[in-house]
Amino acid sequence: MKIVMVGSGYVGLVSGACFADFGHEVVCVDKQESKIAALKRGEIPIFEPGLTELVRSNAAAGRLSFTTDLAGPVSAADAVFIAVGTPSRRGDGFADLSYVYAASREIAQALGRYTVIVTKSTVPVGTGDEVERIVRELRPDAEFAVVSNPEFLREGAAIEDFKRPDRIVIGTEDARARQVMADVYRPLYLNSAPILNTSRRTAELTKYAANAFLATKITFINEMADLCEQVGANVQDVARGMGLDNRIGGKFLHAGPGYGGSCFPKDTLALIKTAQDYGTPARIVETVAAVNEQRKRAMGRKVVAACGGSVRGKTVAVLGLTFKPNTDDMRDSPSISVITALQDAGATIRAFDPEGMEQAKAVLPGAVTYCGNAYECVEDADAAVIVTEWNIFRALDLDRVRTLMRSPVLIDLRNIYRGEQVREKGFVYADIGRGISD
Ligand code: NAD
Repeated sequence: MKIVMVGSGYVGLVSGACFADFGHEVVCVDKQESKIAALKRGEIPIFEPGLTELVRSNAAAGRLSFTTDLAGPVSAADAVFIAVGTPSRRGDGFADLSYVYAASREIAQALGRYTVIVTKSTVPVGTGDEVERIVRELRPDAEFAVVSNPEFLREGAAIEDFKRPDRIVIGTEDARARQVMADVYRPLYLNSAPILNTSRRTAELTKYAANAFLATKITFINEMADLCEQVGANVQDVARGMGLDNRIGGKFLHAGPGYGGSCFPKDTLALIKTAQDYGTPARIVETVAAVNEQRKRAMGRKVVAACGGSVRGKTVAVLGLTFKPNTDDMRDSPSISVITALQDAGATIRAFDPEGMEQAKAVLPGAVTYCGNAYECVEDADAAVIVTEWNIFRALDLDRVRTLMRSPVLIDLRNIYRGEQVREKGFVYADIGRGISD
């Protein structure tokens, strides 16, 4: 099959490289010339485990190529995937669909033979209808179908998720398009990945419903963590006790600083807006988004409390900046709110992240001193706060950390240490929902 991926970011590049690895002929397109130039040199513009090797081997085999010009590849394609960004629109929080519609117009102009246009970007229900209208208006002569095929991969485990998905959702009522999609995903059918064929609108909504539910699960356990702190219970044990029930499941029950990242914050907001527009407010999701927003800044206050009530004139070392480990993605990371809250309270910030510092420099407010490693980061700090649970923070030499710090205060927003171990080493230690005596 000839496949074009429009947008070569986290989703487009991973999907394109995986489709090529299945044996398809894939062209990845992006507007950013520097990104395409880097990809042509074999340099991967994002950090995603295993992606460099996958891209290089498939490019070397001639199945994967890169361009800024979509016209040629689209004219010969069986399927064109739209994998451009759908960020929150400034002002009202609805999904900004301008990139999707711009890509649709460009694709329309270039259509040759029968082509399936697939929205892989996360798009509000009804977007497929609008893409179809745009293409039909520009090219009344063209033979095409518009399909929704939302992507569920997680950054940090994206290749594994793409190749071994829990399910593939294909939204179309067009039999010919469904056949093309079946051919595109044939290698995964053979791996017996469950395929869910739905209407286009159902597929679009399924993605938002899944993300909103996961965000709800995280927010629920975070509120339980707050309650645990007040009543002297341990949220990790509560989560284990809940999660062993098959109806609940143990995933996404890790209490922490609040969800962030490139998907949950914007997708919950977009779902809230869609539901309001249709006169059926999603009140649970509205509450989840509000609770989560407040939580991120509250984590700053937690650090202040652990420091004895004030951080004015103090230095706080922030370990981990990305919204989760194994990615360089800083979009809507909780670290941004935590750092802003601490700066507002008068703290000086030192920070270290294994992969996210370049992106962090572009989004973190105020003056932040970026350090070369965790030990350099904690030097002369009055407190250290673990915001992202990168593996390298799990086994810090705590004796060394204590001697380097001005005062040994550790706030563990990911519960990666055991309280008694850290306190034995002479630290003041605060965590999430495990009770001060733990
Ligand atoms: P991204 O910002 O990393 O990549 C988008 C790319 O599209 C950028 O490189 C941009 O230059 C390019 N682009 C924009 N307009 C273009 C055009 N007209 N032609 C060619 N290229 C164009 O975004 P992402 O994280 O890959 O997300 C893409 C979509 O997938 C979003 O809707 C997102 O919600 C969804 N999604 C993301 C994830 C994730 O983990 N990142 C997971 C599932 C779904």
